[in-house]
Amino acid sequence: MKQFKTESKRILDLMINSIYTNKEIFLRELISNASDAIDKLKFISLTNSEVGSDFYIKISTDKQNRTLTIEDNGIGMTEQDLEKNLGTIAESGTLAFKKENHDKTDGELIGQFGVGFYSAFMVADKIEVYTKSYKDNTAHKWTSSGVEGYTIEPCDKEGYGTKIVLSLKQDGEEADYSEFLQDYKLSALVKQYSDYIRYPIKMDVVRSRKKDGTPDDKPEYETYTEVETLNSMVPLWKKQKSEVTDENLKSFYKNEFHDFSDPIKGVYAKIEGAVTYDTLLFFPSRAPYDYYSKDYKKGVKLYCNGVMIMEKCEQLIPDHFGFVKGIVDSADLNLNISREILQQDRQVKAIAISLEKKISAELKKMMETDRENYEKLFKEFGLSLKFGVYAGFGANKDKLKDFLMFYSSKKEKLVTLAEYVKDMQEGQESIYYACGESYEKINALPQIEKAKDKGLEILYFKDGVDEFVAKILIDYEGKKFLSVSEADFSLDTDDEKKELEQKAEENKDLLCAIKEALGEKVKEVKLTSKLKTYPVCLTAGGEISIEMEKVFSSMPNADGKMKAEKILEISSTHKILDKLKAVYESDKEGLKRYATVLYEQARLLEGLPIEDVPTFVSAMSEIM
Ligand code: ADP
Repeated sequence: MKQFKTESKRILDLMINSIYTNKEIFLRELISNASDAIDKLKFISLTNSEVGSDFYIKISTDKQNRTLTIEDNGIGMTEQDLEKNLGTIAESGTLAFKKENHDKTDGELIGQFGVGFYSAFMVADKIEVYTKSYKDNTAHKWTSSGVEGYTIEPCDKEGYGTKIVLSLKQDGEEADYSEFLQDYKLSALVKQYSDYIRYPIKMDVVRSRKKDGTPDDKPEYETYTEVETLNSMVPLWKKQKSEVTDENLKSFYKNEFHDFSDPIKGVYAKIEGAVTYDTLLFFPSRAPYDYYSKDYKKGVKLYCNGVMIMEKCEQLIPDHFGFVKGIVDSADLNLNISREILQQDRQVKAIAISLEKKISAELKKMMETDRENYEKLFKEFGLSLKFGVYAGFGANKDKLKDFLMFYSSKKEKLVTLAEYVKDMQEGQESIYYACGESYEKINALPQIEKAKDKGLEILYFKDGVDEFVAKILIDYEGKKFLSVSEADFSLDTDDEKKELEQKAEENKDLLCAIKEALGEKVKEVKLTSKLKTYPVCLTAGGEISIEMEKVFSSMPNADGKMKAEKILEISSTHKILDKLKAVYESDKEGLKRYATVLYEQARLLEGLPIEDVPTFVSAMSEIM
């Protein structure tokens, strides 16, 4: 017996002991795998005439032995395929599992993976897979009764394809597994979840009829078995628009893309123009666990006249819309297209351009008419849009800037840049933002208080990429982005300005002495009137802001060179200034300690770590 990988065991365990109420979805998962397997073989059959063409999926039951069988004559699996596909669960999936494990309910957790095949363990205590690959003469049988492990051995099987035999669990108090042996139940489930599958899903159905030769007034009945095709087989995207309901779209999405939760939106469109194609597009309601990792593969399923030619066609979807799932079916494509040709294919390029426009239009519509859902989407995928603005030196920034949202200090919710600009104060020239890891930290920034007092709306930049986005955008409708750290809100009147200048002049020597004490750590030490209660703050002088320094230093290959030029600003109205003056007059050595403490305090306020802990601690204790 072979062992499942340790992490896979835990996921299996979860499936086996699942209290997930939608256990029935296992059927749709297995049917969808079978359909994929046929899709793969059908594609091969285009160039290989030895491969048959009479494709089907078959469901059968054995009530005595409590087994349910799902069979397909698709591509099948070799021994290695079995090992790879059914013996392990993707490493990255297990990582997400560990993270999410604590606070998720069963159903949600199951939804995180879309662990297709394994969902069968929700209803079966033993699974046997008989399979023969179209390129292999030997068939193999994979057997597992759960976490203990699995076995693979050669077996007999006619024809290629896969047959999955589920030994259903015994009925318990909360669950009735026997219903999966009932024709009417299975037939209803297929209609509900798998109607559009393009291959016939057949089942032997027992019917009754009047026995031949028995009189009409005294009829006798007999039962007979008939093969029935349970699904309509019309692909959803080939149906009339009026026939496709929201429910159809949702169920199609979940089936096709192995997601257990409804999409935020499904779009069905027939596009005609430079290129002609049918498309189903979906905006998922949750980012897949690996969405923001290298492992994630974007793309839509590509069909040519109903024949699938590629599972995930990357070229059709730009990175910033990488979260969009869907299907494109076009008659204009070359069937024998290879991955290499696809890159340059004119039609594919034309579809990609059209698809991006369609997605943009749908997003815009959602933003305008269904804000709640748009915000939901933005919370999951906003980062993807922001990276899109930043990527390629801002090549797509104009296309994407209107989809961005940031949290507003004033409205206490997400706002768009257009909304911010529309509500700007009279005479306000800049879009103000403040950076920090969390709302709390941003609220604690020394510079925030005064800006808020002035009634200014401030956008909270919580993601590392936000400020880079602002730097790339430079402005929105002519209004420049400006960090509250760089802005000076206090210098309203000339009198105030003069007063500050005067104070700075009076304290010139003191400020010089502090700068000297701090050396290279700061570029400048100056007075400010923008602080309300805090004595000091740190701002950036050059191109790199303090927030950007944090992002750079958190990068894997950080060399510590990308640093902000720092300016230590001391409040001109805080009583600390008098204290500093006094120390400067009486104790030049003591001033160095004060400088150290002030500088490190300012770093802390900005969310930077203390730079020199021993010196800080000894300076602090000396002062105390
Ligand atoms: P997913 O379908 O999401 O990739 P599954 O756990 O459902 O994940 O299946 C794992 C893999 O096993 C599939 O990607 C496929 O390669 C293979 N597989 C599953 N069922 C079949 C089948 N009926 N015929 C051929 N291959 C299959």
